[in-house]
Amino acid sequence: MLLVCEWCQKIQDDLKLLNLPCGYLICKDHFDSITDTFDCFICKTHPVSKSYCYNMPKNRVKLAELDFLTIADSIKTKIDEILPIKNDPNHAVNETISFLINKIDLKRELTKLQYNTQIDDYFDKLIQDVKKIKLSVQDYVDMNLSDLNLEIIQTTFSQTSSLTDKLKPGYFDSKIELLRNIDTNKIDQVVNIFKVIEKIDFENKEFKFDPNKIFSINLNQILDLVKRDEAIEQTPMAKIIPKDNLTKQFGLSYIEELSNGDLVGVSDLHCGTLIIWNPFNTKLKEIKVSEKKIKFIKVSDNDEIVTVTNDFYVKIYRDESLVKMFQISSNRLKAIDTYSNYFVSADTIMNITLRDFTNGKIINTFKAPNFIHSIKVYRNDELLIGDNESICLWNLRTSECLKEFKILKRALSIDLLSENEIVFGTRDGKICCWNVNENKRLSSQTISKNPLAICKVYEKNKIFSCSEDGELRLWEKCKGGLIVSVKRRSKEVCFGKILKNKSLLTCTKTGLVTILKKI
Ligand SMILES: [Zn+2]
Ligand SMILES: [Zn+2]
Repeated sequence: MLLVCEWCQKIQDDLKLLNLPCGYLICKDHFDSITDTFDCFICKTHPVSKSYCYNMPKNRVKLAELDFLTIADSIKTKIDEILPIKNDPNHAVNETISFLINKIDLKRELTKLQYNTQIDDYFDKLIQDVKKIKLSVQDYVDMNLSDLNLEIIQTTFSQTSSLTDKLKPGYFDSKIELLRNIDTNKIDQVVNIFKVIEKIDFENKEFKFDPNKIFSINLNQILDLVKRDEAIEQTPMAKIIPKDNLTKQFGLSYIEELSNGDLVGVSDLHCGTLIIWNPFNTKLKEIKVSEKKIKFIKVSDNDEIVTVTNDFYVKIYRDESLVKMFQISSNRLKAIDTYSNYFVSADTIMNITLRDFTNGKIINTFKAPNFIHSIKVYRNDELLIGDNESICLWNLRTSECLKEFKILKRALSIDLLSENEIVFGTRDGKICCWNVNENKRLSSQTISKNPLAICKVYEKNKIFSCSEDGELRLWEKCKGGLIVSVKRRSKEVCFGKILKNKSLLTCTKTGLVTILKKI
């Protein structure tokens, strides 16, 4: 149904028009660019709350339907693609494989034809070349032989002379003179040409057809796709993984990855010891960091392992040796992050501190207004802070709150989706995308009854999420928001991570680490 906006007079689909509390109907777009409370566009006599409007039953239904339609739009193309396959999988497989076989058959005939032509062309050209050479050879031979009078010489050889003749003065001199004047060099050159021509032959006398050098067709890519998931490592590594429930340890990155593929974790037996291991060979290296428990580990941009222990020391390791160490204030830490040469920490009494990474000196410190649940460096010197009901963007140097998004939930894990977009997982099991620049919610969906404790972007527009009930999901960002591409559930899994080589690492509460080659 088409209706008219009572503010800008634009004719719109009913769905895209929302009611104000006073009853007027206006475009949904008008709400996007205003603050949460504003004076009524039309009456101008009463304040209006945006969230109140969004929650009015009529509007709520419209917004929900719009969400449904955008998601449906993205899913629809996928459904259209899978429908004929789902209806008759055998037929679909036969069809596509037959198509490939036909393609190969056709290529066979075409190749024979092309080869025949190309071989003929090659040998024809060779013969033409030889014919051209023949003319030059003829010229050369003719030219070199023109001065050579063989008859006179042969006569000289065959003449039989009497002794009287031989006794005549100068008799042999004239004969020798005649022979000496013969250009033997020319004779050699001409004879040589014939020898060379006779010896010319093909270097490779046998013709071998090596299709692999000529055609490239990659059938293995099909096998790679249909190969069943294969765990490359399924050794229980109980000593590596803390057994604590994820909620108790929130903020701890259980396992980090170095640029060479080595994994870094905290020993469960000696909770002050770092363990570095390569998933392809089970050799472990241990670094004793402290007598106290390691509370946080993070691999910095420079491939250094940053550890924070319960006795408030930050120790930084490179190539397994301690390179920097400094002490921080004795408040319990809630979360840490690093960027270039800076170390950011948030504690349980809402202090945010920016430190120089190289010496631990405090550059700035300020107090956030609410309890902090998560932090994430957004850009240089800008930090996203998730508190009880919002995500705020702060300037770390000026202590200025740049933006605030009321999400009315607790964000447990924030990551950067693109230059202006963030994704976060909430305590009530929602995964949400937000445009920071436009202060606009892009999508939000409930995926679990449990807290969504891990929400990491691992590739452009691809997100990995893990909720506390062990449900792992891979998401793809599309027009209408996020859609699931892979879902995997394992009751025991308490941590998951996509490694740099795209394999999936999971670990259970009992410490079983599994790496799947394919996600
Ligand atoms: Zn309007
Ligand atoms: Zn009004």
